[in-house]
Amino acid sequence: MDIPRIFNITESAHRIHNPITPEKLATLGAALRLEAGTRVLDLGSGSGEMLCSWARDHGIVGTGVDMSQLFTAQAKLRAVELGVADRVEFIHGDAAGYVSDEKAGVAACVGATWIGGGVAGTVDLLERSLRGGGIILIGEPFWRRLPPTDEVAKGCLANAISDFFTLPDLLASFRRLGCDVVEMMLADQDGWDRYEAAKWLTMRRWLDANPDDELAPDVRDKLTSEPGRYAAYTRDYLGWGVFALMRR
Ligand code: SAH
Repeated sequence: MDIPRIFNITESAHRIHNPITPEKLATLGAALRLEAGTRVLDLGSGSGEMLCSWARDHGIVGTGVDMSQLFTAQAKLRAVELGVADRVEFIHGDAAGYVSDEKAGVAACVGATWIGGGVAGTVDLLERSLRGGGIILIGEPFWRRLPPTDEVAKGCLANAISDFFTLPDLLASFRRLGCDVVEMMLADQDGWDRYEAAKWLTMRRWLDANPDDELAPDVRDKLTSEPGRYAAYTRDYLGWGVFALMRR
């Protein structure tokens, strides 16, 4: 079981698979006023940077579940590197329907809400692992600028304008789900650059090392087109944030 191989190639060198930076991740951890020993569940935990760095900085304990074998292996190495391997565990698997045995004080899905079939389904899923009064974290894109046409939305790799809300509408949608929005950390364009532009050097190095791979033509096309596409569309139009929610 794994995610499509193209992501394991283009994001192999990423520690954070989203436009949030290490600094913003640290600020978010502090903003949530995490207490030592708090249990954090992370569905779609990627290479584990949130759990590992918060375990180091705040003494949280936690579990991450991710479908990428590569990212899960990297997460385990990161836990050892940061000296928190006794506090965080990473499970390779499908997080759809995953409910933890032990209730968590924070249940997160940061940039992978398809796991629960969208934001509403993911909030429901996370809540099943959450203790009363716990915090749900959702990482999700929104329109920073509303695209004038669906063509522009497609340039941002969305299917249509209707795929995402504007920020006020996204916050209203959390309210409609019965949640208070109690914190948020928004990405900025420098953070988008770290997420997107970091893929380009990774692709170039991979192409140099794997010229005969069956995916080499696809990766070549992507490396040629991505900087222009990203600069024209995603960088300008797409916002992204992590939202902290508590059930009302
Ligand atoms: N939260 C991490 C990773 C976000 S990228 C971070 O911010 O760095 C999305 C992640 O979801 C990837 O790591 C991908 O492997 C994982 N993923 C995709 N589908 C999944 C599924 N069904 N179950 C578990 N993880 C999944």
